[in-house]
Amino acid sequence: MNKDRKLIIAGNWKMNKTVAEAIDLVNGLKRELATVKEVDLVVAPPFTALSEVTRAILDSNIRLGAQNMSEHNFGAYTGEICAAMLKEFSVRYVILGHSERRQYQKESNETIARKALAAHAASLKPIVCIGESLDERKGGQMEQVLETQLRGSLAGFSNDQLEETIIAYEPVWAIGTGVTATTEQAQSAHAFIRRVLASIADEATARRVRIQYGGSVKPSNARELMSQPDVDGALVGGASLEIRSFTEIVKNSI
Ligand code: PEP
Repeated sequence: MNKDRKLIIAGNWKMNKTVAEAIDLVNGLKRELATVKEVDLVVAPPFTALSEVTRAILDSNIRLGAQNMSEHNFGAYTGEICAAMLKEFSVRYVILGHSERRQYQKESNETIARKALAAHAASLKPIVCIGESLDERKGGQMEQVLETQLRGSLAGFSNDQLEETIIAYEPVWAIGTGVTATTEQAQSAHAFIRRVLASIADEATARRVRIQYGGSVKPSNARELMSQPDVDGALVGGASLEIRSFTEIVKNSI
C-alpha cells in the first residue's frame, strides 16, 4: 500500500480477558503476525494483564497500549493509574477519550487534553478518540462535533506533540453495533479531520498525523477501509478479542 504514513492497527480489549486468556491471545497474535513489518501493531489489554503481556511480547513486533491513564502524576487519586506506572510495563501507547469513557465517566475534551499532555510528557503516544453520535450525524452536526472534540482534546499541543498523537475517528453509532461507516463516510470524515488538524497546526504536520478508523472493523471490511487515502489504520474492539479475526484484519490491510 502506497501511503506516506505507516498503518497502525490497535486492539482495544476493553474490560475483557483474564491474565491467562490475555496470554493465549497475545501468543497467538505473535505467532500469526510475526512477519508483519508494514503495520505498527498494538494491543491494549486491561491494566491487570499488562505485566504478563509485556513479558510475552518481548522481542516481538507487537507493542503495548493502555486503555486510559490519569492526568496526574502520583498522589491521592484512588483507583487511578499514572503514566510512570504504565512506563514500568513498557507501555508505548495510551487510548484516551474513548466514547465509552466520554459516556460513562463523563470525560470532557479538557480532561482528555490534560491526560494527553501528561502522556506526551512521559513519552507515551496518545490515541485520542473522537466521533459523533447518530443523532449528531443525522442532525448535520458531524463536522462541528468533530472540530469541537479535536480543538478541545488537542488544546495546548505543540506541532511536535501533534505529530506523535494518533487520532482515532470512531463514530459512536458504529462502535460495537456491527454497523460500519461506509468507506466514503470514513474517508470524508478523515479528510475533514486532517483539514482541522492543518488549521490547528499546519499542513505539513497534519499530513504526518495518523488517523485510525474505529467502529465494527472486521476482516471483511478492513481492506477497503484501509485503502482510503486518509485512513491510516484501525482501532479494533470486538474483532481484536480473537486471534483469527485480528490477524485477518491486519493481513487484509497490507
Ligand atoms: C472500539 O470500541 O474502539 C471499537 C471500535 O469497537 P468495535 O470494533 O467492537 O466496534
